[in-house]
Amino acid sequence: MKKKYLIIAVFILLLCVGCAKEQDNNPADIREDEQEVVQKPDEEPAEVQPEVNDPISEIDLSLKPNELGEIMIIMYHGIGEEESDWQRTPENLRKDLQYMYDNKYRMISLNDYAKGEIRTKAGYTPIILTFDDGRQNNFNYIEKDGKLTIDPDCAVGILEEFKQKYPDFDVTASFFLNSNPFGQSEYAEQKLKWLVENGYDIGNHTYSHMEMETLDGEEIQAEIGSVNNIIRSYLPDYTVETLALPDGSNPKREFVTDMLEGEYKGNKYKTIAVLDVGWRPAYSPFDTLTDFTSLYRVTGSEIKVDNCGIYDYFKAYENNTRERFISDGNLDVVTIPKRHEAYLNMDMVGKRLVNMYE
Ligand SMILES: [Zn+2]
Repeated sequence: MKKKYLIIAVFILLLCVGCAKEQDNNPADIREDEQEVVQKPDEEPAEVQPEVNDPISEIDLSLKPNELGEIMIIMYHGIGEEESDWQRTPENLRKDLQYMYDNKYRMISLNDYAKGEIRTKAGYTPIILTFDDGRQNNFNYIEKDGKLTIDPDCAVGILEEFKQKYPDFDVTASFFLNSNPFGQSEYAEQKLKWLVENGYDIGNHTYSHMEMETLDGEEIQAEIGSVNNIIRSYLPDYTVETLALPDGSNPKREFVTDMLEGEYKGNKYKTIAVLDVGWRPAYSPFDTLTDFTSLYRVTGSEIKVDNCGIYDYFKAYENNTRERFISDGNLDVVTIPKRHEAYLNMDMVGKRLVNMYE
């Protein structure tokens, strides 16, 4: 019996020594020690610290960065065999993407735009792709050789084709969904998970696609909140932050707050970017003219659009009759030609550095 007690006593002793050792290595203690060293009055920290590079001096002004230029938010709907106002053929979508790639456009997400987080490389122009209505031809699964694969002619299939071909295209897009995401309800969860895992975003296009102008605050919250709840049921960790207005119909003034913030069946939502339907490029997120509750889009179509289809604007940028956003390549610096200074929204610039040049 005595031997047993001895073993237990030795065991407890060893345990205590172990704890003491752990305390010695406590990272909080080490940090405190370091702070003490820094605070010593005879130290000269300026000499000890390495010199910080000046990010502004590294900006290449020969690329004519213009972070107050326009950014196009392209609005697509269906992708199918017949070209119409609300449908682009697979061939024409490929043509659009090729034009963008060849003419120094690179994709960014709408969510990043709304936060002013533009990672586009220096000298290139960000562009945002959006697809409304959650049609099956946006994301379609087909069976091939007994295996489930993404239809190469649906929107996601075509985007993935360009992602493979041009890894530096920064391929992404936002899909704005209603109550029935992408048809094929048996694959709804699989599709939504695949999108988020592969760098795409999901936005809200309201439950029943009614014009917001006709709805009151409670109805607006139900229309937005119910779609968010459907998406949350498939993707519990994903936050929907963007909204595309059905038919571009804005809510009555007194109900705008219900669109931006609300609650439905116990779940809250917050909207950081709201998309209209037409008909011109959006301003830079750093421009005082930008209204994140009502952002312009350009239609991804060439039919029945009078001088305001995507190619009209592409041409205007080529001819320098409009100014496109040209990135300085640094997320923490906003570089603008001095002539645009009055339009710089300092609230949006926040902690970023401003770099102005003549
Ligand atoms: Zn729609």
